[in-house]
Amino acid sequence: MSQFEQKTGNEYDAVIVGAGFAGLYMLHCMRKLGLSARVYEAGDGVGGTWYWNRYPGARCDVESMEYSYQFSEDLEQEWEWTERYAGQPEILAYLNHVADRFDLRKDIEFNRRVTAAVFDDTANRWEVRIGGDVVSAAFCIMATGCLSSTNMPDFNGIERFDGDTYHTGNWPHEGVDFAGKRVGLIGTGSSGIQATPVIAEQAGHLTVFQRTPNFSVPAHNKPMDPSYQEQIKSDYRDFRKRLKDLPIACMRPPGEKSALEATPEERAIEYEEHWQRGGLSFLGAFSDLITNQASNETAAEFVRAKIREIVKDPQVAEMLCPDHVIGCKRPCSDTGYFEAFNRSNVTLVDVGKSPIKSFSSTGLDTVDDSYELDCAIFATGFDAMTGALEQIEICGKGGIRLKDKWASGPTTYLGLTTVGFPNLFTITGPGSPSVLANMVTGVEHHAEWISECIRYVRLGGFERIEPTVEAEAAWVRHVNEVADETLYPTCNSWYMGANIPGKPRVFLPYIGGFPTYLKKCEEIVAKGYEGFILN
Ligand code: FAD
Ligand code: NAP
Repeated sequence: MSQFEQKTGNEYDAVIVGAGFAGLYMLHCMRKLGLSARVYEAGDGVGGTWYWNRYPGARCDVESMEYSYQFSEDLEQEWEWTERYAGQPEILAYLNHVADRFDLRKDIEFNRRVTAAVFDDTANRWEVRIGGDVVSAAFCIMATGCLSSTNMPDFNGIERFDGDTYHTGNWPHEGVDFAGKRVGLIGTGSSGIQATPVIAEQAGHLTVFQRTPNFSVPAHNKPMDPSYQEQIKSDYRDFRKRLKDLPIACMRPPGEKSALEATPEERAIEYEEHWQRGGLSFLGAFSDLITNQASNETAAEFVRAKIREIVKDPQVAEMLCPDHVIGCKRPCSDTGYFEAFNRSNVTLVDVGKSPIKSFSSTGLDTVDDSYELDCAIFATGFDAMTGALEQIEICGKGGIRLKDKWASGPTTYLGLTTVGFPNLFTITGPGSPSVLANMVTGVEHHAEWISECIRYVRLGGFERIEPTVEAEAAWVRHVNEVADETLYPTCNSWYMGANIPGKPRVFLPYIGGFPTYLKKCEEIVAKGYEGFILN
């Protein structure tokens, strides 16, 4: 029996938008609290990222044993991962299993895109619009995802192109047969880098249009070692605790010494060891790779040397060598990416030097050349962190629009709440560690923090909670200060909003480290929700 009054009909205690890792667990938490909650999801199934991104080669780059929920020991024990880095179908199967196991579907409406959420200042409730329907909720929880709003650049003449087009972030469920096709792939971020080697094996010819080369470290993916899985399962709690104490809540503790304290020989050994181990912990080889330009350059040069070693054509190898700071664009992890350029059916085109001019009916023209294509793949990323939120017409107190409030960059308290929008929560919102940490761990933390907060509001007999102007300003200052101590702002990355024309250039996630963030969140709760107004 609930300790709170439950609303029925089209009135809920909470509306949750999105049914990925975040929305599913948020719903479970609301149920545990005995509250009524309704989830609205634009897709026709659960899974979020793993529902939409079905491109060939899609898989996680945080290890499967770490990239999973920890709220249920039974779930942890019963689920068997089959690879070191699970592929998209396996992660989607896992999330479907979670939805079934915890009987979540009955409170989720699929194919239902939330278009607006308006706060009623008198009733202290959110009116949430789903197309023509309106529901009302005391709390509105955005589990809309950091990387769920696809970025489709406005390519000149795209409507003239007669071939098929695909975006990696909205891939056809039935898959695509590229056999014998002339395929063009635009974009060399994580998605393009994962897709390239797999599509190269299928296509007649693959042309990769690269605007900026990217660093990538081999994943060394392999079948799950059953004894490793068993060992973790026998001590999951300790395993999770150790991970939570790491700056990015996954992988390994970063090195303790500066790259510059090591001799060139010691550095080479360290980098080689990390390269052979595989995966993104490469950037943890030394303590200062993301704060010291000279240290960073030693790691960057190591990877460039690897690219030159792998790629047989020296000209192609040079084109693939990035000259930016390693890690300041989201690092990538691959399976045979650079090797793919040794294939006779793969061509690399530098559209940084010779930009894409326009599409024609039969292909694509750069400033210097023309390419005949049967289909084009856009691996052009996302309007990250704010895109999905700003696509919803969110209006707070006095009709203030979130989009207007964030016109010069998002401002939040903890990435979870924002002034002027009482009872609105954003899971992994801007200003939270989100994309700079194991996102499943971040999502779980947020869902639990939000449900504890809602419990506090209800038990205290309050109707609304909202951060103070001062608390928000101090948090935003802190988020910027810690970002400015790093090399992140030196790059044109989606972390900076730089991939979307006109988007304010602001460092979006919180880089102060996952443990620091957890501590801050705990302190705020311990001090009776310090920095919040409750009434
Ligand atoms: P999402 O999974 O993005 O789910 C949000 C959901 O909200 C979507 O289903 C969307 O349809 C729905 N939605 C949005 N707006 C609306 C609306 N207005 N109305 C209704 N529904 C809406 N992170 C890691 O930590 N490790 C990894 O290895 C990793 N790999 C990734 C690989 C890819 C290809 C991508 C794109 C991202 C990856 N990420 C990874 C980040 C990943 O997004 C998160 O790990 C995690 O899946 C986010 O879950 P979520 O529920 O917060 O958001
Ligand atoms: P992304 O990192 O933003 O990469 C987009 C690519 O498209 C970039 O190479 C970009 O070039 C290029 N591009 C964009 N607009 C272009 C234009 N007009 N002309 C030519 N090129 C253009 O997007 P993503 O690869 O989809 O990855 C997004 C994030 O999702 C990742 O960073 C990661 O967090 C997550 N992800 C993770 C995995 C994984 O391994 N687990 C896999 C996929 C995605 P510029 O660099 O020049 O802008």
